[in-house]
Amino acid sequence: MIAGHSFLGLRFVLCNNDFALGDELQEKIAGKAVEYERRDSARMADTTATGMTRRALLGAFAATAVVAAPTYGNAFGFLRGAGDIRRIRMYSGRTGESIDTIYWIEGDYIKEAMAEINHFMRDWRNSQTKQIDPRAVDIMAASHRLMDVTEPYMMLSGYRSPQTNAMLRSKSRGVAKHSLHMNGQAADLRLKSRSVGQMAQAAAACASGGVGKYSRSNFVHMDCGPVRSWGG
Ligand SMILES: [Zn+2]
Repeated sequence: MIAGHSFLGLRFVLCNNDFALGDELQEKIAGKAVEYERRDSARMADTTATGMTRRALLGAFAATAVVAAPTYGNAFGFLRGAGDIRRIRMYSGRTGESIDTIYWIEGDYIKEAMAEINHFMRDWRNSQTKQIDPRAVDIMAASHRLMDVTEPYMMLSGYRSPQTNAMLRSKSRGVAKHSLHMNGQAADLRLKSRSVGQMAQAAAACASGGVGKYSRSNFVHMDCGPVRSWGG
């Protein structure tokens, strides 16, 4: 099993060691990680051609049918079976940094982990940071979980400072003036083992925000703004 023992290599603080978690919290997280990996490995053999597990897909459809006018879509529902933890794994081709962190446990976002995420998702061009909206991270984590991949996301763009957004806008028509990247509410992500279509399908199943397909550039934009989709 690919995922079986990966928790042993799980590191909570990868790109900046300033944030030390207390012993008690670390033990708690380690215990949860074991539980999480056990449940995870049980699902591994069940992946369909779409790149999602059958169970996850059934869950997606069931959730779509049952949830009445949710303000918040399905992202939380998909994460509910994850051993009461939420985990995000990413690396950046821009900075060479990686992050593998449990950022939510039993109902609470972990402040130190969220600070790590803020730092990791900073504007790599000028190192400006912004508080990343936890709902965006939830969508990313839920989509990752739905796709049942062991590979971390490659993050191409997280927070964008106004200067960077203006610069990108001057070069491309595809960049919005009030991009949600500027609010810390969006990320552009890529996976080697999943197509843009599969990634977008997973994100759309969360029904919790915007999903943009950029097939030619091989990435998917996910945000926690209004539910909508674009691109091809
Ligand atoms: Zn984007």
